[in-house]
Amino acid sequence: MGENYDIIIVGGGPAGLSAAYSAEKNGAEKILILERDREAGGILQQCIHNGFGLHHFKQELTGPGYAHRCYESIKNKKSIEILVDTMVLEIRPDKTVLAVNPEKGLMELKAGTIILTMGCRERTRGAIRIPGYRPAGIYTAGAAQRMVNMEGYLPGKKIVILGSGDIGLIMARRMSLEGCKVQAVLEICPFSNGLTRNIVQCLQDYDIPLYLSHTITRIQGKDRISGITAAKVDEHMQVIAGSEFDIDCDTLLLSVGLIPENELSRGAGIAIHPLTNGPIVDQHRETNLPGIFAAGNVVHVHDLVDFVSEEAEIAGKYAALEVRKQTKEPLKDIEVVPANGIRTCVPQHLRLGAEGETVRLFMRVRQPMRKVKLEIRSGGKILLTKPLPVAKPSEMIAVDLPAEKVAGLAEKLEVGIKEGA
Ligand SMILES: Cc1cc2nc3c(=O)[nH]c(=O)nc-3n(C[C@H](O)[C@H](O)[C@H](O)COP(=O)(O)OP(=O)(O)OC[C@H]3O[C@@H](n4cnc5c(N)ncnc54)[C@H](O)[C@@H]3O)c2cc1C
Repeated sequence: MGENYDIIIVGGGPAGLSAAYSAEKNGAEKILILERDREAGGILQQCIHNGFGLHHFKQELTGPGYAHRCYESIKNKKSIEILVDTMVLEIRPDKTVLAVNPEKGLMELKAGTIILTMGCRERTRGAIRIPGYRPAGIYTAGAAQRMVNMEGYLPGKKIVILGSGDIGLIMARRMSLEGCKVQAVLEICPFSNGLTRNIVQCLQDYDIPLYLSHTITRIQGKDRISGITAAKVDEHMQVIAGSEFDIDCDTLLLSVGLIPENELSRGAGIAIHPLTNGPIVDQHRETNLPGIFAAGNVVHVHDLVDFVSEEAEIAGKYAALEVRKQTKEPLKDIEVVPANGIRTCVPQHLRLGAEGETVRLFMRVRQPMRKVKLEIRSGGKILLTKPLPVAKPSEMIAVDLPAEKVAGLAEKLEVGIKEGA
């Protein structure tokens, strides 16, 4: 049997680093971060553009700049150890962690509590089943981002991007800045799936056309991609016959969604939510397995890393309190249910004691709406309303439910959205 730790954190991205910072602040004495990459920082290492940290650090940073700030906050703490080049292979409900590292070999480690911060991965061509040949030149936008920003290679010169998620939009701008011609961004939904600021700053500022309600019906080229066939889709996302047209390209980038990285969680028996694809968590980010917490993109895909840090600090705090046996037995379990217009809400339930505590809820709407009102209800009573000028599926909504309202909860919490603010 290997060494014992207070807390083992799986994944050294911004969530893992922020969780360690908060766990140490809350009294954990022996914390280990396990990271499979050659350095900590997670996916932010390849996001060299700015726009990070405005909420959390009150300063505009690049991705690596943000990761560095997270790293700086823990690097001199004696109680925190980071092992890089270390892949976690298995976690068990008894809080044993199996990991492998080129120097230490296979390690079996034991923890008081575990925090899962493995982030997410990108959906690939196979997941969306685009017909056609399988030539070279098709990459996920994130793979191309790493190639260009970290390895110094260009994947091609004439680019088409499928999907208008933020990574695709950011890559449209990056490829233009690198001297490539971005022919088009195609999006199957009738609305963009990226932040408004990215549509303006990455597409409109560079005159890159965005085709909404369009998809790819064919990939051309046998050895190397030479073009794609695009087509319009109807409201059921079915291709409209006769609307096809061709676009030349030597590279296709896919930005068609992120999938929380939960193979380890599933293996341990952690309950996964079918819509967020992440563990079902309470307000402290504890999963259904006692002492196993989760935070960041592994729980639900975030659009702003600032919220990732905030969530990870909650998980870090309660993982530390649990190790020190300072958490109280909950007296009630209140379900949080998405109602009209809301697709997902995290946390999915609240485990509450006698005293109330402020709870921050993170939500995503089903479709874009203007001038709406967010409404939180319980037992037929409205607890909170918040007018929103715009609500979009790509922009996560965060709202705080004050402690005095949480204290009195007896029935499930319903979170919905209504037109007319
Ligand atoms: C390609 C891409 C580009 C993005 N660009 C932006 C952007 O421009 N702006 C923005 O705000 N957000 C962006 N995001 C979202 C971004 O992921 C989050 O904002 C934030 O980085 C999430 O932090 P995290 O710590 O939860 O996950 P990550 O940053 O993904 O960190 C997870 C870490 O866990 C490690 N890990 C996973 N599994 C294991 C294992 N089994 N063993 C050991 N280590 C493991 C990974 O190597 C990684 O370092 C992007 C995401 C992706 C995938």
